[in-house]
Amino acid sequence: MAEEVRGPDTTALDEVVTFTSELIRIDTTNRGGGDCRERPAAEYVAERLAAAGIEPTLLERTPGRTNVVARIPGTDPTAEALLVHGHLDVVPADPAEWTTHPFSGEIRDGVVWGRGAVDMKNMDAMVLAVVRSWARQGIRPRRDIVLAYTADEEASAEDGSGFLADRHAALFEGCTEGISESGAFSFHPQPGTTLYPIAAGERGTAWLKLTAHGRAGHGSKVNTANAVTRLADAVARIGSHTWPVRLTATVRAALAELAALYAIDIDTRAPHLDVDLLLDKLGPAAALVAPTVRNSSNPTMLDAGYKVNVIPGQAVAYIDGRTLPGTEEEFAATMDELTGPHVEWEFHHREVALEAPVDSPTFAKLRAAVERFDPEGHVVPFTMSGGTDAKQFSRLGITGYGFSPLRLPPDLDYGALFHGVDERVPVDALHFGVRVLDHYLKSA
Ligand SMILES: [Zn+2]
Repeated sequence: MAEEVRGPDTTALDEVVTFTSELIRIDTTNRGGGDCRERPAAEYVAERLAAAGIEPTLLERTPGRTNVVARIPGTDPTAEALLVHGHLDVVPADPAEWTTHPFSGEIRDGVVWGRGAVDMKNMDAMVLAVVRSWARQGIRPRRDIVLAYTADEEASAEDGSGFLADRHAALFEGCTEGISESGAFSFHPQPGTTLYPIAAGERGTAWLKLTAHGRAGHGSKVNTANAVTRLADAVARIGSHTWPVRLTATVRAALAELAALYAIDIDTRAPHLDVDLLLDKLGPAAALVAPTVRNSSNPTMLDAGYKVNVIPGQAVAYIDGRTLPGTEEEFAATMDELTGPHVEWEFHHREVALEAPVDSPTFAKLRAAVERFDPEGHVVPFTMSGGTDAKQFSRLGITGYGFSPLRLPPDLDYGALFHGVDERVPVDALHFGVRVLDHYLKSA
């Protein structure tokens, strides 16, 4: 058989299941505030890379918060390098809510169960299985491939991709593009239709702290400068604000693909496109784009007062804001307006929005790899409503795509599994992912 049609060997298909299960059993819960230890998972990955002749580098900013980086040299020295990254930490899981223990890694009826099964120890395991299969078969990719297994993605990334981008940029020399989580999973808006959304952008993060000042005093007196009332007014305006539609190139491309697929007669290039009408006509498939046609601002935390009959002089709230690429100034101006004269606001945490081209050769190859293994599936570009490590790596000039291929059965809702209860992944889905990644990464 010619090399380009030779897929991953049977060992790779076995290993991806074992690796996913065993990585889940290594509890890397990230509770934020530095409460996490990725080192055992990093060592697990590093040992298996080293055994395949791929030299791993272990890097820590904080003891126990370990990242692994390795480079596989490509056959074309003139080609730009590709970054493939996955995080090793997971969000917390409460065993009382789960059918099986979230850190059991149990394999039952062809399904691997546990926290991280889709976010994203599955991808960590798939990449590991693929590159070990190449080592056994003597395969080298065309481009240099840099592998990064990161710590701290589920919190600040300061011990993970942020630290790598700040302090170890040399390890990513030549990388122009990257692939990672949150894309290329199957999505079934209705029976008989399979979509594969590939992420080509992320909304930016704009977490805000609001501070209202007023006149402190007795709770029984008239007070027209009550900080709590001022804060509450501002929070209500921000929470119920309808942001205007702002279509990015990626979202417009997604709408065009979906409109064509559903034979909806609306010109998606029209400058005054009625997006809400189009979303309505798309039905359940609208879920792919609806969260990213606008900015958003959700009040999430409130802090004021200490006694029921005392009006405090100050009240504080936090807002989870998210911004589409190119809307940052508009977002800030809107906040000035919505907060009003008595409430100050500042950024509590801020990350850039990302947008990757969907008319690039890389997007075409990602699309082709999925369609090769599921010819019935339709690839649709999309923008992530939140953020990933790709934001940190973008500082190194790396354009990120969300591409962790999984073909899930129609009754498994990827969106609900992500950070959800009873997170799990079918063995078949992992095998699909290994085949797609093997094919894509060899020819990337
Ligand atoms: Zn993730």
